[in-house]
Amino acid sequence: MNKKSILLHTFCLVVLVNILPLKAQERDLTYEEQIKAFTTDERFYPASIAQIIDHPTIPSPLKHFGTIIGAPGVMHNTSEIYGYYQALAAASDRLMIQQMGTSEEGRAIHLVMISNETTLANADSYKAMLAELADPRKTPSDRAEELIKNGKSVYYLNGGMHSTEMGSPEMLMELAYRLLTDDSEAIKHIRENVIVLINPVSEPDGRDKQVDWYHRYTKFRSEWDDGFPRSTPYWGKYVFHDNNRDGLQITQAITKNIFKIYYHWHPNVMLDLHESVPLLYISTGTGPYNENVDPITVGEWQTIANYEMTSLAAQGLPGVFHWAFYDGWWPGYGVWVANTHNSVGRFYETFGNAGANTYLRDLTKSKYAGDNVTSREWYRPDPASGMVNWSARNNTNYMQAGVLASLTYAADNREGLLKNFYQKGVNNTRFAEKNKIKQFTIPAAQRDPSMAAYLVNQLRAQGIEVHQVLEGEAVGSYLIKLDQPYSKLAYDLLTEQNYPKEAKFPPYDAIAWTLSMLYGVDVEKNEAFTHSPAELELITEEVRYEAKATGEATNYVLDYNAQSKTLSALYALKQYSKNAKAYTSDLSLL
Ligand SMILES: [Zn+2]
Repeated sequence: MNKKSILLHTFCLVVLVNILPLKAQERDLTYEEQIKAFTTDERFYPASIAQIIDHPTIPSPLKHFGTIIGAPGVMHNTSEIYGYYQALAAASDRLMIQQMGTSEEGRAIHLVMISNETTLANADSYKAMLAELADPRKTPSDRAEELIKNGKSVYYLNGGMHSTEMGSPEMLMELAYRLLTDDSEAIKHIRENVIVLINPVSEPDGRDKQVDWYHRYTKFRSEWDDGFPRSTPYWGKYVFHDNNRDGLQITQAITKNIFKIYYHWHPNVMLDLHESVPLLYISTGTGPYNENVDPITVGEWQTIANYEMTSLAAQGLPGVFHWAFYDGWWPGYGVWVANTHNSVGRFYETFGNAGANTYLRDLTKSKYAGDNVTSREWYRPDPASGMVNWSARNNTNYMQAGVLASLTYAADNREGLLKNFYQKGVNNTRFAEKNKIKQFTIPAAQRDPSMAAYLVNQLRAQGIEVHQVLEGEAVGSYLIKLDQPYSKLAYDLLTEQNYPKEAKFPPYDAIAWTLSMLYGVDVEKNEAFTHSPAELELITEEVRYEAKATGEATNYVLDYNAQSKTLSALYALKQYSKNAKAYTSDLSLL
């Protein structure tokens, strides 16, 4: 064959490939029919979840488990759920799974990442781009523009925080399968523009207890209001429902891992999936909003919620609303790590039955912000009816249709979300320029120095930079300068709150949290920067205060100032010497 004919052959081959019709994807009609069958009413059946692809090599939940997601009586525990994601990871290079941590009882906490093959193969470079955008001090605006153009939206879905709210770990498996297998324009659009992060069961200890409880007890009940407890008596190892009140102290594995995922990825949007309010509540909140949340974020709460409301209205779903539930004031919910770190953090409340039974539910007595949930309002244009026959599949449909709308928003507004993320960082680094307070000082001399060290560590756990003074009068003091990416959070945590007296509704949670006051640490507010960078050192490791006993003696005096560690010091003393005795005495009387 001469060169010319090779070229000709190549040309013919290309033409042949191009004229072959694209084979339509096979649909899994059995799966689709079962979705319909387990949905109790046509009104609860959105178009965006109706199609399921019959993929030749990637297992659907039906092929893997033998039942579809939301089938009556079916709830999966963590090993089954993680097993399914591992099967997906083995079958598709559009999904990766990574262990992020371990729960208090030793169960894994995983992160699932989904996008198209090319994006996922370059996941680390997209992660690095977001890290660059996160710190405008290192990223000038022309570089930011480039990153915004080439970056991806990163959308973090948090499942299974509250164990009795059992639907999200189930729904997320079907969502993952859909995102991997469906080649429709709508899903391809999401895959091409968004990296979807899924924490499938953020509280795995609770999940397994609650799944056992369901299979052992509540699965056999036929009425919702029969008085039988639908929750295991206690599900977390140490913390129950208030695992969602740990975002300021960060004490539990669930919170530590949510924060870890945030700092690894800097997701543009975080959505926490809850269940309590009929039929779907989208968080915007009634206000008063936290004063230190960037106005861009407040705008994004409204924009995204209204986008989702509109999309679900177009699919005919009743009972979707925003505004009338929770306020938006307290910054300590798990997902608020996004709001306080320049992203946008939100949640859904869908309607769950604490399991996979179908019950007749009475909504006539449910009120939020003074209005019955069945009333038509500006924020609820199509309310639910008073009595609903509600199934686990209905819950799956609502949650998944909302999430798909939200992912579409993130795909459509990829550049806008990245731009806002960067701009919020810029606003933070310029906070000191506009604000009366420019800096906080934690003086070295403290009544309780170990709590001052604790405060420094807690601020650092929030991603706030703390410097130590190296020389001069204030040597050993710690400074928090308000020209850093999370200045507003530092300001929020170290100043007094002013919850408006005239607020129209009672607060949803705590109204005050000033850490320095909670910990009994003196913190000064400075109206100017007091030190040059050369006089300071950035703290990069955990700070420890170590007390010392000086001198060789048989009796020691401890200068007691109600330090938080006094009691543990007395226990340590007893461990050191069984015969040791401790007395209290007013030294001024000696
Ligand atoms: Zn919840």
